[in-house]
Amino acid sequence: LLISREHKSEDTIIEVKGTRIGGSSHTLIAGPCSIESEGQLRTVAKTLKQAGVTVLRGGAFKPRTSPYNFQGLGEDGLKMLKKVADEVGMVTISEIMTPEQIDVAADYVDIFQIGARNMQNFDLLRAVGKTDKPVLLKRGLSATLEEFKFAAEYVLDQGNDRVMLMERGIRTFEKATRNTLDISAVPILKQETHLPVLVDVTHSTGRKEIMLPCAKAGLAAGADGVMIEVHPNPPQALSDAKQQLNMEEFQVFWQELTNSGLYN
Ligand code: PEP
Ligand code: MN
Repeated sequence: LLISREHKSEDTIIEVKGTRIGGSSHTLIAGPCSIESEGQLRTVAKTLKQAGVTVLRGGAFKPRTSPYNFQGLGEDGLKMLKKVADEVGMVTISEIMTPEQIDVAADYVDIFQIGARNMQNFDLLRAVGKTDKPVLLKRGLSATLEEFKFAAEYVLDQGNDRVMLMERGIRTFEKATRNTLDISAVPILKQETHLPVLVDVTHSTGRKEIMLPCAKAGLAAGADGVMIEVHPNPPQALSDAKQQLNMEEFQVFWQELTNSGLYN
């Protein structure tokens, strides 16, 4: 397989506008669950940039469980994302859900995100595989690692080898967390593929008080980075209100993670 260590032994390093993902350094991807307004995004982006974070996330096309929940601002949201990211000097990442959204999003985002619910949307995988932008592929809600690896293979097979994998928790019988963060996925994917591997501690845990230890565990297991959602006023957020960190919580999380010696 093109994703395998047998095919390529050295780590793939993805370089986007001066930010390197993979290799010997770590990357934090942070930002709100959904883009809600320019002001919301600016508040978060300024804090992140000041802390040294270079990748700004924000959903504009949102895969919501209920059709009656906030569905995202679409292209208007992506415009805000690019405007704010350009102001502060950050790289942008946002989810696309259909091949048609690629052309729309390409003007505004530096990295395409494919969400858990679309991990096996093979048309979408092939379509991003034909672009020249990096792709962040999230593990499906109930996907095995074999299925996850084959999903990534679809992208590489089309010629785009700038793919990073994200463990975001899987469905198990356990109810204490939103999903079960499969830490063992990290060393397995690192050993069996040459792609960067990151952990999403927001959607996996769904619990603010354990995001820091889970991020540390991910890094200790060999992850190349972490994703976390940050919002200026989480209780008022239009999505994932219960699990986004506010500015102060982010500062504590970031200080403790960078002081842990695990993040470099
Ligand atoms: C997200 O990161 O915005 C998201 C919707 O996560 P997931 O696809 O992992 O559920
Ligand atoms: Mn979210």
